[in-house]
Amino acid sequence: MSKQQADREFRQLLSLLTDRTREDLSRLEQAWEFTKLAHGETLRKSGELYIFHPLRAARILVSWHLDTTTIIAGLLHDTIEDGGATREDIVERFGEDEATLVDGVTKVSALRLKGSTQNVFVESLRKMILVMAQDLRVVFVKLADRMHNMQTLAALPPEKQKRIARETLEIFAPLAERLGMGSVKAELEDLAFPYLYPEEYKTVVSGAEPFYREASEHTEKMTSALISSLQKEGIEGKVYGRQKHLYSLWRKLSRAEIEGDFMKIHDIVALRVLVPKVSDCYAALGIVHSLYKPVPHLGISDFIAQPKPNGYKSIHTKVFGPGGRIVEVQIRTFQMHEEAENGAAAHWAYSEAKSHGAKSEALEKGTATANATKLSWVKELVSWQDQMTDSEEFLKAVKFDAFQHRNFVFSPNGDVYDLPNGATPVDFAFAVHTKLGFYIQGALVNGKIVPLTYHLKSGDVVEILKSKNIHEPSQHWLDSVVTTTARRQINRYFHKK
Ligand code: MN
Repeated sequence: MSKQQADREFRQLLSLLTDRTREDLSRLEQAWEFTKLAHGETLRKSGELYIFHPLRAARILVSWHLDTTTIIAGLLHDTIEDGGATREDIVERFGEDEATLVDGVTKVSALRLKGSTQNVFVESLRKMILVMAQDLRVVFVKLADRMHNMQTLAALPPEKQKRIARETLEIFAPLAERLGMGSVKAELEDLAFPYLYPEEYKTVVSGAEPFYREASEHTEKMTSALISSLQKEGIEGKVYGRQKHLYSLWRKLSRAEIEGDFMKIHDIVALRVLVPKVSDCYAALGIVHSLYKPVPHLGISDFIAQPKPNGYKSIHTKVFGPGGRIVEVQIRTFQMHEEAENGAAAHWAYSEAKSHGAKSEALEKGTATANATKLSWVKELVSWQDQMTDSEEFLKAVKFDAFQHRNFVFSPNGDVYDLPNGATPVDFAFAVHTKLGFYIQGALVNGKIVPLTYHLKSGDVVEILKSKNIHEPSQHWLDSVVTTTARRQINRYFHKK
């Protein structure tokens, strides 16, 4: 495919961005020109021009409704690693944020899950998560990059295919799940599945086919019955069937109680009911149960009243569909649906940030919300890291020093700091900025005042209360601080005096 074809695809991408300013669009065009220049005539293994790769990664970011900075970073994401550009080039032409994102993606890409030892792997993973925690948008670009690499994996030699597919299944799909990006997780898993387990993949595909077909007939009948009942109640909803994706179907089939029997999987095809408001969800549940009897024992799961840990919200119920076949019905609002599919990305969505921008007061509020959201996702990410080290089969044997004496604490706007055990708010202040250390009047941890000798714990949000003028450090601080930076700064202050 030619350069002209790539330009045409790029213009199509621009045409999807009807909500952007003219300035945004011209910055995107600059990024495209920059990428073309950086990658030149380079080809990928598939024989295609390299520029199609960043272009299609950017296209994926557009489909997640991300902001312009992230899309630009998607276009530029390989220009440092493979295109000979420097961080400075990107800062100069585009800005600090874009450069940080591209740099972050480059760093993450350098970390490989090879046959490396557990310790090396854990350390890489820790670095990866820290890089990502600085700006969550790095993860989105990395996921889009990985998605396109998986879509074009066929062109690589078998050895590489296996390594990349394994990395996808073990790191990137769980990461997407952790971030609540359900559709991304499912797609990555299904792309990796045939490369890692070719035989099992074939079995599942051929075994599932008649069940998909049969179940689809039932759900089609149910769909039209439900739509007309919703209309009668004045609810403007959407109803459609969704197929369980192949990898999760296989995982479920492998469970002991299922015994590989497709008949025992009730959500092989599920019905989705999307409605405008939360109250409509419960009304819709009533309608479903009036048309189809709920299955005793299997029951209703109300993840709206009690969301899953990753934020997933929905009502699930299992009913006897036509012909007595058990069918799962999932009911949620359109908003919940967007969040279930795109998760963290939905919180970064361009239109949302934009709508807060109307008034300066609203903008401030918008920023506050964005920060709070960012913060909670970052905390999620860090806690995921802890859990992952527990659950990963091949990591189980090892004790993780790397994590045991580390504490990840946060500034009020979500920046993450990696401090040693026993670190105090004074250590934190000097880690943020030496200047902040000399203005400490007090400290809040998770919104409560704490003594300056307090030992910070992972997940703490630390806020330093600043004095107007320089606040003399106390000699006693030297007894409690543990970081070299803090100790050195305090000592230096007393020497000067
Ligand atoms: Mn790439």
